[in-house]
Amino acid sequence: MQKTHEQVWNNCLAIIRDIVEWQHFKTWFEPIRPVALKDNVLTIHVPSQFFYEYLEEHYVNLLAKTLKRELGKDARLEYRIMVDSGSGGNKPLTMDVAGQGFRTYTNNEMDFPLVIHNPLKNPFVIPGLKKMQVDSQLNPIYTFDSFVEGDCNRVVRRAGKTVAEKPGTTSFNPLVIYGGVGLGKTHLAQAIGNEVARLHPNKVVLYVSSEKFINQFQDHSRNNAINDFIHFYQLIDVLIIDDIQFFSRAERTQDALFAIFNHLHQSGKQLILTSDKPPKDLEGVQERLLSRFRWGLSADLQIPDYETRMEILEKKMRNDGLEMPKEVVKYIAYNIQTNVRELEGALISLLAQSSLNKRDIDLELAKKVLRNFIRTTSKEVTIENIQKMVCDFYDVSYDKLLQKTRKREVVQARQITMYLAKIFTKNSLKTIGEHFGGRDHTTVIHSCQTVKDLMDTDPIFRENVIELQQKVQLAAL
Ligand code: ADP
Ligand code: MG
Repeated sequence: MQKTHEQVWNNCLAIIRDIVEWQHFKTWFEPIRPVALKDNVLTIHVPSQFFYEYLEEHYVNLLAKTLKRELGKDARLEYRIMVDSGSGGNKPLTMDVAGQGFRTYTNNEMDFPLVIHNPLKNPFVIPGLKKMQVDSQLNPIYTFDSFVEGDCNRVVRRAGKTVAEKPGTTSFNPLVIYGGVGLGKTHLAQAIGNEVARLHPNKVVLYVSSEKFINQFQDHSRNNAINDFIHFYQLIDVLIIDDIQFFSRAERTQDALFAIFNHLHQSGKQLILTSDKPPKDLEGVQERLLSRFRWGLSADLQIPDYETRMEILEKKMRNDGLEMPKEVVKYIAYNIQTNVRELEGALISLLAQSSLNKRDIDLELAKKVLRNFIRTTSKEVTIENIQKMVCDFYDVSYDKLLQKTRKREVVQARQITMYLAKIFTKNSLKTIGEHFGGRDHTTVIHSCQTVKDLMDTDPIFRENVIELQQKVQLAAL
């Protein structure tokens, strides 16, 4: 007599129960429901896509072996997944997915078992303490307080705050912060870590650069201690990994990151990642990782506008107890446009020059110091340059941009051009307006506001603007 799907599955479970650690059995096997058996294909019901992927990653061999014992060598497993229908809707959908057909794994493809055999050896662990204590590697100067809020960072700064208040329990998991060099990714990621440490002193927070993570992984793999490596990271409550673009082509480290990510995410731990480009553009990073990065929130840091640059400079001066004439601060903020690190660099050079030459800081000195700075760091981008770039991008003619056409594409291109001109050039609103067939400054203000609003509500529009911003940024190098 043919066995039923329940009988087959129960027999499999009887074996699996003896092999898998109790905790893992409870987590990964008890929630499974067998639903059908047809020929040699057993269909099981799993709670989520994640669950399915986890089983395929970690238990495919075990499942294959046990099922083949029951159903013979042609046994196959199919999954039925409850698909989370997203925000609000709580009606579960199901989706059928075939298993990997039980391909045999070679040794180096094997998943990483979660069991730990050796005592921990890890440079971050503070030895001699009973409870595991980890040195968070955070720099206390990077706080939310010292991170000036502006249009350029409002979304991600607020998301970061929320994450710091409720790590692991919001939908911002992982939180991926991306943006160009020197725009504050490290500062913000560390600010979140510091804030968690302040609000939740019992949580284990760890900041690590991707470089360090990769080196550590390689050391451990040379010493056959990959499990220790993975296990250590799986004990962290809030894991911050900086500059994940360096993972491209670190294939085996990516496997480890995958195991760590899954475990942390599944157990409600928080991940914060930074990258110099949007996750979708990370070349050489496995798709399965990229798809996980999309589970949470990816938000970018943009180039700060003039007001924000002023505020950053003023805050920095206040914190360091410095003073200089307002016109000098304005001069720096006007001239250093694309990178906060350079903004600070300019300030420091100016101070150094002033004390070296025993000379007060004034506009003349500022001009002298910044002349070298600006020439080597950024070229002037003109309104005309930007107009040309936007015209190329949207395939709109230059004439149209200047005329009164109200066609939607043209209007949008015009508004974006004004917006970029405001961020990237030091022209007044009036001058910018004049470059568009003599429009007045209120039109420019209105355009900038419209662009900001659209960026908040329309992701495709936002992507386009960001791409254009990067083009302009590159042209300024
Ligand atoms: P990234 O990691 O994106 O290259 P960093 O986080 O290292 O950039 O930032 C570069 C410098 O600029 C740091 O000293 C940081 O404190 C400062 N900085 C960046 N953004 C801000 C901001 N919004 N407010 C204050 N300081 C900032
Ligand atoms: Mg950084």
